[in-house]
Amino acid sequence: MRGNEREEHEAGEVSEYVRKNLEGEDLAEEEVLHLFDMPLPVLGRIADEIRRRKCGELVTFVIDRNINYTNVCVSRCKFCAFYAKCEEDAYVLSKEEILAKVEEAVRLGATQILMQGGLNPDLSIEYFEEIFSAVKRRFWSFWRAFALSFAA
Ligand code: SF4
Repeated sequence: MRGNEREEHEAGEVSEYVRKNLEGEDLAEEEVLHLFDMPLPVLGRIADEIRRRKCGELVTFVIDRNINYTNVCVSRCKFCAFYAKCEEDAYVLSKEEILAKVEEAVRLGATQILMQGGLNPDLSIEYFEEIFSAVKRRFWSFWRAFALSFAA
């Protein structure tokens, strides 16, 4: 396909995917699979056009804090720069340290906390229960979301 033809073809594809989304029409299986092969900028144009038509230029945000409660992780993923490579670098935050971080976030206007840490086999369910209970008792009215993720 020549340059102009390709651009026209892509524009047609973009508008068809956008139309189907806006009209709530299901994609055929081959259309779904085709999304995986699309150049990223074309995929981005589809997403951006749907966003623009549905939300206009309205932008919203939340103030959020990620609290990394431990860097001990048994997964040891090759790409990871987060987990502790030796005992001297390993940490687990105490309930008091976590509450202090939550308090600081609240003071700065946060309405969302993500507790994110490594897969630490030494942390029992009681560790999390105690922290969640303490946070709930002190800060519940501030939150839209308080979530836990077991791997950073
Ligand atoms: S913290 Fe996450 S990315 Fe890092 S080693 Fe553990 S599971 Fe893998």
